[in-house]
Amino acid sequence: MPPKKKRSIPRPIFFETTIPVVRTCTRCGVWFAAGVAEGQKAEVELTALDRGQTIWAALNGIELYCIRRSGLVHMDALRLTGTHPGRLYPQHRCDIKWPVVLGQVQRPARNETIPY
Ligand SMILES: [Zn+2]
Repeated sequence: MPPKKKRSIPRPIFFETTIPVVRTCTRCGVWFAAGVAEGQKAEVELTALDRGQTIWAALNGIELYCIRRSGLVHMDALRLTGTHPGRLYPQHRCDIKWPVVLGQVQRPARNETIPY
């Protein structure tokens, strides 16, 4: 009978976060911050979003990130409910040119009559 192999203790897996590198997109040429955020590849635009743009980005399924000195922080739904550690930046997508100019919200006229 062969000697029983000693079971090795599994090494812990850390989700790596790297300091982002600013480079251009190979497809559209836009400058963005590229890095690894908690084990996931992240390409983040360098345009900070205002409140309306943040909501627009969340509704359109664009991932949001915070840029910290230690690296990119992916802001998931749970993190977005709390206090933000900084300004929010959108994920790079070649079909969206930031800053997206959102249309003005039209307020209805006060003397508008009810149509019935
Ligand atoms: Zn691109």
